[in-house]
Amino acid sequence: MSLTGMQIFKYLPGAKKAEGTNCKLCGCPTCMAFALKLAKKQVDIQTCPHVPQELKEKFSEASKTQQHEIKLSSTLVTGGENVMYRHDKTFVNRTVIAISLDSNDKDFDKKLEQISNYCIERIGEEFKVDAIYLTGTNLETAAQKAEAKGLAVISTLTPYTIVKGDDLDALEQNSQSALNQGGKDIILELGYNGCLQQTVQELTLIRRAAIIKRHEPLTYPVMVKIPSDTDILKITAAASVLLCRYANIIVLPYFNAALLSAIFTLRQNIYTNPQKPLQVEAKIYEFNEPDKNAPVLLTTNFALTYFAVAAELESLPFGSYLVVTPSDGMSVLTAWSADKFTAELVARSVENFGLAQKVNTRKIIIPGLLSHMQDELQEAMPQWEIVTGTIEACQIPEFLKQG
Ligand code: SF4
Repeated sequence: MSLTGMQIFKYLPGAKKAEGTNCKLCGCPTCMAFALKLAKKQVDIQTCPHVPQELKEKFSEASKTQQHEIKLSSTLVTGGENVMYRHDKTFVNRTVIAISLDSNDKDFDKKLEQISNYCIERIGEEFKVDAIYLTGTNLETAAQKAEAKGLAVISTLTPYTIVKGDDLDALEQNSQSALNQGGKDIILELGYNGCLQQTVQELTLIRRAAIIKRHEPLTYPVMVKIPSDTDILKITAAASVLLCRYANIIVLPYFNAALLSAIFTLRQNIYTNPQKPLQVEAKIYEFNEPDKNAPVLLTTNFALTYFAVAAELESLPFGSYLVVTPSDGMSVLTAWSADKFTAELVARSVENFGLAQKVNTRKIIIPGLLSHMQDELQEAMPQWEIVTGTIEACQIPEFLKQG
């Protein structure tokens, strides 16, 4: 972890009212200002002549790289993590999902086509396989074909070094040797012998050594290949666990659409930054070619809410409109409590989106969780009839059928 401004400040004269307090020799007006700038690495620690040796050592230690970022292609990087748990701050780069492919396979082109064509949409995001792990001897030609399809390639031909080790100790020793030989860009490939518990323990120790101890040989992204000689459920279980703890790259033994669907969904959950909720565009959405008398519902632009409601509206045998208000991706109650779903904002959205020109109906159905806002909304939009709808999205079809 980097040092915070307050952690730095307590070592400076300003915190102890000692000689030099706020002397400005560093170019900052106060010791606190220097501490805050140093925490953001916007000032050189040497500019303060009063920094004690202890702070210099702590700062130097805290400034070491925790996990190196390695470029797998012009658009794909791996590694670069700096916390153990997502709630500490956020994870940085999603676990790379690669599929192993033999460059000498007679069906290489067909398999590559299948892999590169795969795409799944989840909550408005599209996911495709990130990379191919190439084996065999026809690496150059196979790599060109894979790259032409937009896939990153992992193989012995790539510019970084793949350091292998069957267990943690071997991996650490081999990585140290590679570093001693002047290696820079390294990917650590940890062997997986089918014992998931052992592999997860080793991955956890590697991540701890990188993030907390900044132990150089283990500060590189870690790749794990799942062997093919096990059934698909075990492969899915292994991939899911490795995704959670702590593989940067997972190499699947073969293409399987159901497996990819499960792990992309899990990956999206883990790598979505909770400080930046998924959101959809605020506008009027139309379902099943609605006519001017179709019902109008309203909600916030929190992606999960939108997709839950949208799925129900899509399933109806008639058309409908959904007005989605700009609420910074917050769910309805959160938006209301954070003043992101006010009567004024809803009224303005309805007007700006031109709802009155789109429909003949003058009825808007609001989420049941916001029933307490019905009178307020009615006052802000006197030309519309505000109706309180359901609390759960799954209740919408029944509610609309009852008119
Ligand atoms: Fe404080 Fe050091 Fe800056 Fe003087 S030079 S104001 S002691 S941080």
